[in-house]
Amino acid sequence: MEFGTLSIQQLLSGYQKKEFKPSEVAASFLKNISDKNEKLNAFLQVRPDETLSQARALDEKMSQVEMLPLFGIPVAIKDNFLVQGWQATAGSKVLSGYLSPYTATSVERLQSMGAVIVGKVNCDEFAMGSSNENSAFGPVRNPWALDRVPGGSSGGSSAAVAAGLATVSLGTDTGGSIRQPASLCGLVGLKPSYGRVSRYGIVSYASSLDQVGPFSRTVWDSARVLEVMAGHDGMDATSAKRAVPRFTEELKAPAKKAFTLGVSRSWLEGVDPDVAKAFDSAIEFFKKMGGKVVEIDLPHTKYALSTYYLIAPSEASSNLARYDGVHYGYRTQSAKTSEELYSKSRGEGIGREVKLRIMLGTYALSAGYYDAFYLKANQVRRKIQEDFEKAFTQCDFVVSPTSPSTAFKLGEKTDDPLKMYLSDIFTLPVNLAGLPGLSVPCGLDSNNLPIGFQMIGKPFGESELFAAAHQYEQIRGEFPVADMAKGRG
Ligand code: GLN
Repeated sequence: MEFGTLSIQQLLSGYQKKEFKPSEVAASFLKNISDKNEKLNAFLQVRPDETLSQARALDEKMSQVEMLPLFGIPVAIKDNFLVQGWQATAGSKVLSGYLSPYTATSVERLQSMGAVIVGKVNCDEFAMGSSNENSAFGPVRNPWALDRVPGGSSGGSSAAVAAGLATVSLGTDTGGSIRQPASLCGLVGLKPSYGRVSRYGIVSYASSLDQVGPFSRTVWDSARVLEVMAGHDGMDATSAKRAVPRFTEELKAPAKKAFTLGVSRSWLEGVDPDVAKAFDSAIEFFKKMGGKVVEIDLPHTKYALSTYYLIAPSEASSNLARYDGVHYGYRTQSAKTSEELYSKSRGEGIGREVKLRIMLGTYALSAGYYDAFYLKANQVRRKIQEDFEKAFTQCDFVVSPTSPSTAFKLGEKTDDPLKMYLSDIFTLPVNLAGLPGLSVPCGLDSNNLPIGFQMIGKPFGESELFAAAHQYEQIRGEFPVADMAKGRG
């Protein structure tokens, strides 16, 4: 039996009916990985014995009355999460060979509810990038078209699920790194509200923006993963002390059925025509369900890119100071003085894009420039938040395409950082405002590549996001799967 394209819900139902057991499912995913990963380069580490022994332990529990919420579900984890016993490179040579001493809270919660880890997956170095081409371990390819990027920075997470090599995966999203690759690979991707999920055990990039979230085939699956891993964690002071709704229960009887969508047409200028068409047709679906569309104004989103590229590199320059050849990972062989040990270890171990950001951030934080850059950027960040607060007095969600274009060719944007940065034009403001954002597949372009619809919710408004996206998904109908997942790639 082929399990690669089944959802969590379908796997759970098969387990309940005793049609198959966790070890069979795990073995089939491991086989898919060994057959297809050579082409994709999505997985950086698999530990078949460990995966199978986790799955076999679950086989014994098949007859328990109450099945765990993620019983026997194969999950792939981005390589910037710590999982005890597994490597955590964050896509960087500086951390190659680094073994996690403990497990991230999000992952621990999934494991304790029955999830089976099938591997650690590739990403842009320290989660900086939009195409997965900044990984020290080579680019990942998109299962929909192998000459194209899967998006980034969580490109391994999106490619793994889209190709049928994991049922769901975890990624991190600092400026779009879950929603954009989900969009480019035809998946549902969620960045929860800032503080919804613990960041403990994640390799930090920009701590005031980073969030953990799932990739999945369906909205229900996304809701299931979130309800398991969300909630306060004493190990992360920024995790919110908020009750976590039972999102999947709520989907059975949504409190609200007709939603008001806010669209800012001026924000959407310049998107690919195919993307614009699919976006408009998704809006039509919502109208058919009784929804309304209002024009909103987000006057400060035009500054989001510059704001993000001051705040994120500033925080990164501080967070990445720990990779010095002494505390962690790679150490140069050729240092004669301690000064050289630091500079050569960092110089040899850290890649070009990350160096660029460290320099940018260090500059923005330096005495004399702090007020003009970092402080100013934070003032603009507040203005962007206020734009959304105001918009939410008129609508339930703000909607946009997730990405201005579909998956681009490998190498197409690597020479032009600005072009690459523009891939995140619709996702960055959401992180700056700390809001939840969900990308749901809404169509295919003329090259048969998936397009994503982004829905941005109120703070901690994941319940409503799921309700609306789930409803949309049912009207839209089942979304096609990548050829590779059908066994044709
Ligand atoms: N592409 C953006 C960046 O390079 C966002 C990355 C992310 O969300 N981790 O910083």
